[in-house]
Amino acid sequence: MIKHSFLGGQYTPECTGQHTPDLHGHFKPESHGHYDRIFHYNGENDFSELHKQFCDPSQPVTYVNGVRNHFRWEFMIMKNDFELTESELKTKYSKFLEAKVNLKDFEIIRSKRYTFHTIMADKWRSKRVFLAGDAAHLMPPFLGQGMCSGIKDAKNLAWKLKLATENWNSNTNKLLDSYQIERSTQVRKIIKLAAILGGFIQYSNPILAPFRNGILKFMNILPSKSIDRLIENHLYSISIPKGKTNKHHLVGKRFPQPKVINKFGFIYFDELLGFHWTLITKCKIILDKDLNNIMINHIHLTNNIPNKSNCIISDTIKTWFNHQKVDFVIIRPDKFISHAGLINDLNENVKHLINEINSMTSN
Ligand SMILES: Cc1cc2nc3c(=O)[nH]c(=O)nc-3n(C[C@H](O)[C@H](O)[C@H](O)COP(=O)(O)OP(=O)(O)OC[C@H]3O[C@@H](n4cnc5c(N)ncnc54)[C@H](O)[C@@H]3O)c2cc1C
Repeated sequence: MIKHSFLGGQYTPECTGQHTPDLHGHFKPESHGHYDRIFHYNGENDFSELHKQFCDPSQPVTYVNGVRNHFRWEFMIMKNDFELTESELKTKYSKFLEAKVNLKDFEIIRSKRYTFHTIMADKWRSKRVFLAGDAAHLMPPFLGQGMCSGIKDAKNLAWKLKLATENWNSNTNKLLDSYQIERSTQVRKIIKLAAILGGFIQYSNPILAPFRNGILKFMNILPSKSIDRLIENHLYSISIPKGKTNKHHLVGKRFPQPKVINKFGFIYFDELLGFHWTLITKCKIILDKDLNNIMINHIHLTNNIPNKSNCIISDTIKTWFNHQKVDFVIIRPDKFISHAGLINDLNENVKHLINEINSMTSN
């Protein structure tokens, strides 16, 4: 079993993929039961197009345009072909592709048979050992969220582990427990949606397929803005426990990460923030003296050329503030919103956060 040492080796994030062994019987998989077989075929060429799902009931195919001149085709292995070997499948799907593209122009980098699992561990933490990535959850790739979810696990866990290694008490222990609560709730929704989408794409009943096509066409004419909002709220937000001050509906949502202008020029906002708690205000606001805390960055929007490191110009963020009707937002090191509100609530919210941080940094 891999042991990644982390900050002196006090904690072990297990990121050993789907074959991670059960640790002392603690990580019982919670199965959502969905299996499918896909033959995966990687090629390299100048060929370039958008990602496509070919929902043909006689042969569902996924086409993914990868980085630069890499791209990928995935074929659902039909029931009659389950017993074929990898080389027989390669011959079959090469013929299929030859009818569409000149295969001589391609270098085939990899072809592989996969069985997708939809499964989640019921416990992601055993004392100082944590599961992350495919070791904690497996999903079919129809939403392209497997690796993304692993990266989100790491971002969620990293700042909590940092606090816990610097100071251990019941509050940092509780914070570590929040890792699974926050991540598994979100991953469960993503897994379910990926399985539903996979079911749509892989639908192979030729009589009922036109019905499926009708539903997809109908979804296509629905206004995309409201669908985007639904996805943002239900798929990409996390449920951060709400306290007395952080009750705003933006708590748990993601903050936009555009390129902004600071005194050095253009920079990605998340690069500027680093891995810290950050208070962002719509304009310059002087906080009460006792609320200046070295653990919290304070950045404000400006309309002039920024001459200080704590002010930025960003039309995207300015529009976002106006649209959300808030004056300030506090974001966690993993870039999720922990507090938001109007100017009158600012001091109380910052005070609340400082108390929370203090409870975790002092014994
Ligand atoms: C066909 C397909 C398409 C996909 N498409 C997408 C996509 O578009 N977008 C997306 O986000 N995700 C996608 N995914 C999912 C993504 O590939 C996985 O979620 C991701 O690779 C998981 O990363 P991981 O680091 O958790 O595990 P892994 O990538 O499995 O890495 C685990 C590592 O640990 C090593 N290891 C295991 N046991 C030990 C041990 N005992 N000691 C030392 N080392 C060990 C393994 O060798 C491996 O290198 C796709 C998956 C498939 C199969």
